[in-house]
Amino acid sequence: MLAAATVTSHDRDSLRDALVTMGEKAFRADQILRHVYKRCATSYDEMTDLGAALRERLKAEIPVMSTAEPEENKSKDGTAKLLVPCADGQLVECVLIPEPPGKSPPERRTVCVSTQAGCPVGCVFCASGLAGLARNLTAAEIVEQAIRVGRLVRQRYDEMDHPISNVVFMGMGEPFYNLDRVIAAIERLNADWGMGIGLNRITVSTVGVEGGVMKLAAHPLAPNLALSLHAPNDEIRARVVPFAKALPVAEVLAEGVKYQQKTGKDVTCEYVLLGDINSGPEHARELAKRISGKGLKVNLIPYNAVEGLSYEAPGSKAVAEFSRILEAAGIPAPVRRARGDRIAAACGQLRLKKIAAPSP
Ligand code: SF4
Repeated sequence: MLAAATVTSHDRDSLRDALVTMGEKAFRADQILRHVYKRCATSYDEMTDLGAALRERLKAEIPVMSTAEPEENKSKDGTAKLLVPCADGQLVECVLIPEPPGKSPPERRTVCVSTQAGCPVGCVFCASGLAGLARNLTAAEIVEQAIRVGRLVRQRYDEMDHPISNVVFMGMGEPFYNLDRVIAAIERLNADWGMGIGLNRITVSTVGVEGGVMKLAAHPLAPNLALSLHAPNDEIRARVVPFAKALPVAEVLAEGVKYQQKTGKDVTCEYVLLGDINSGPEHARELAKRISGKGLKVNLIPYNAVEGLSYEAPGSKAVAEFSRILEAAGIPAPVRRARGDRIAAACGQLRLKKIAAPSP
């Protein structure tokens, strides 16, 4: 039997149509959407402005969520990772990153969402690729990650309005292999009737795959773009991102520049620094030469140890020197603080632990 369509699988028009088909007034859809996207309600029991009989009917005919209650893993710095169970048993990771750490309420409440269960790309530093790809997530499963993290923020910070300020599509998966659903999720995150998050506060990342970037650039909902570069040249990139379908470094950068010109949105290069592989001053100089003058920024991310992988993080001096070389070439190159190490905050690690050691 097919699962019932959930509130999160609808947009406003289709939810209104579904309510009218049930013999209800269309405005009920707006009430429900307000509860789900503004107050992060995950059940009809919280929607007390709907009659009890209607709530019971809706539970059976249009459930609110497709996913179940998540397991929460907290870190001392405020970062929290949720492991969200899908209806078919797949587990999906999403992360709350409050910034600045320790501020209450934090100025930025960023959620990092996954777009696939597992990942086909297999970056060598990442736990998500270790078990390969299970399947694409639905738009509902993607947007529910933001709702569940928003709910956590509201519980923590006095039921605050606008609990999610930023969304990054940087969790498990290659978003451009699930682009139509990613765009549908962006619509729900951005719309007035949805979470109302501006496109300049939404970022989609990619390793760079044929045709993907310019397809997104042509869409009216094009957000900011992050290029998962991780190497200054093709030889090192083939070691770090050993995925045959990933575009060469020159093409990834060219796509990024075209995207920026067409959309006017921010484009950043993500660069995970691995000791002895891509983090030497010679790599920084080579990268600076390739990027200089293109208007791109580089986010430097010192490697976060993954169980089962033998890579090492570079020392803090090497990280600072890498950043200094890029900055001296006029390229903004902030170092992203390690957050949530204690809860294995890097992509895919919690899911991998569960797969390796399922609960009894
Ligand atoms: S870093 Fe991203 S693209 Fe690379 S394996 Fe992990 S999830 Fe996939």
